Amino acid sequence: MEKRIVILGAGYAGLVCALQTRKYLNSSDASITIVNKHNYHQLITLLHETAVGARSDRSLRIPLQKVLHDKNVEIKKGTVVKLDPDAKQVKLENDETLTYDLLVVALGSETEYFGIPGLKEHAFTLKSLNQARLLRAHIESCFARYPLEHKRELLRFVVGGAGFSGIELVGEFADALPRLAAEAGVPLELVEIYNVEAAPGILPGFDPELVKTAEESLKARGVRFMTGVPITQVEPGLVHLKSGDTIESETIVWTGGVRGNQIVVDSGLETDPRGRAKVDEHLQSVNHEDVYVLGDCALILNEQGRPYPPTAQLAWQMGAACGKFLYHDIRGGLKEDFKPNIAGAIASLGRKEAIGKIGKSFKTTGKMAYFFKDASNYRYLNKIGSVFTNR
Ligand SMILES: Cc1cc2nc3c(=O)[nH]c(=O)nc-3n(C[C@H](O)[C@H](O)[C@H](O)COP(=O)(O)OP(=O)(O)OC[C@H]3O[C@@H](n4cnc5c(N)ncnc54)[C@H](O)[C@@H]3O)c2cc1C
Repeated sequence: MEKRIVILGAGYAGLVCALQTRKYLNSSDASITIVNKHNYHQLITLLHETAVGARSDRSLRIPLQKVLHDKNVEIKKGTVVKLDPDAKQVKLENDETLTYDLLVVALGSETEYFGIPGLKEHAFTLKSLNQARLLRAHIESCFARYPLEHKRELLRFVVGGAGFSGIELVGEFADALPRLAAEAGVPLELVEIYNVEAAPGILPGFDPELVKTAEESLKARGVRFMTGVPITQVEPGLVHLKSGDTIESETIVWTGGVRGNQIVVDSGLETDPRGRAKVDEHLQSVNHEDVYVLGDCALILNEQGRPYPPTAQLAWQMGAACGKFLYHDIRGGLKEDFKPNIAGAIASLGRKEAIGKIGKSFKTTGKMAYFFKDASNYRYLNKIGSVFTNR
C-alpha cells in the first residue's frame, strides 16, 4: 500500500530530501508532501549579500514549483505550529491536520539570544529573505535620515557575533557602506562598523592563519573588532557591553547563536539543551523511529563527540541520505550509516574576497577563495536542478 511521506521545511535539507526520495521511490511506493512557510526555497547562505543590496532578492528565491513541478511532490504552503509524533499528526497554522506514515522534520534553526535583555526585541537577525530585506531597508533609511537629523548613531553599525555569518555580514558592510554613504552624500569617515564578540577572537575554531588574514582585510576596510566583550543588554539605540562601555547605534544585527526549532523541542522528540533533536546513525529520532530529523534542527556528533556546526553543506547531505533511508523503509534492504563528508569551509569577506580551507589542509584566500565559494553555490544549484538564477 502507498505510504504517506510528509517533509516539513523546504530548506537545504528538506528540498534535497524530497528530490532524492523521488529518485528512488515512485508514486505507487509513496506520496510525498512538502510543507513550507513560503512557496519558495531560499538560499540562506547568501543572505548577507542581499541584506546590503549586493545581490537581488530574486536570485535568492527559488520557486518550489520550478524545482519540483515534474517530481510528483505535493507542495503545501503553510506554517507548521505543532508536531504530535505519538498521534502521527502535524498541525498547520490554518488548523489543517496532516497525517503521515513517515515524517521528515527539516525546519531549520532559530536565533539563540542567550537571555540577553533587549536583544530579541531590538536587534535585527538574518535568517530569512524577509529579514534581509528588512535590514536593507533600515540601512538605507539610516543613510537617508542622516543628512536631516545629523545623529551619529544612524551611521554606526554593530554586528554581534564573529562566527561565520557575522564575519560574512561585516565583510558586506565594509564593501557596501562606502557606496551607500556616497549615494546619500554622507562623508565616509563618519561611518563606523563594529563587530562585537564574547569569545577571545573572531571565527572561533577556524585556522589561525586564515583568521589573521580575515582580520587584517576587514580592519583595513574600517571594521573595528571588540573581542572578549559580551553584550549584556540592548536598548533602543544603545548596546551595553560587559566592560561597562556602551555603543550608541540605531543598527544592531545579532548573528551570535542558533538553536533548534522550538516546534521540535515542544513535540516530545528527544532534544539536547540547544533544542536540537537527537538522532541515530540513520537520522531517525532516538525516541520516534518513524520521524527523521535533518539539518539545523538535528544534533550530529563528530568523531570527537562534538556537534557538527550547522551548515547548508551538512543539511543537504542529510537530505540526500534520508532519501535513501526512506527507500529502505519502504522497499527493504540494509541502511548504511550516515557519515558527513565535509569538503571544507569558506567565509566570504565582501564581494571580492574570502578565506577558506578545502579538504584537510588546502588553504585559500582572496579572489580564488571567493571563486571556490561561488562554485560551491553553483554546485548546490546544480544539485537541485536550478542553476540559472538571476543575479
Ligand atoms: C547569513 C548566513 C550565512 C550562512 N552561510 C553559510 C555558508 O556559507 N555555508 C554553509 O554551509 N552554511 C551557511 N549558513 C548556514 C546554513 O544556511 C544553514 O545551516 C542551513 O540553511 C540549514 O539548512 P536547513 O535545511 O536545516 O534549514 P533552512 O535552510 O533554514 O530551511 C528550513 C525551512 O523550513 C521552513 N520553516 C521553518 N519553520 C517553519 C514552519 N513552522 N512551518 C513551515 N515551514 C517552516 C523555512 O521557511 C525554510 O524554508 C549560513 C547561515 C546564515 C544565516
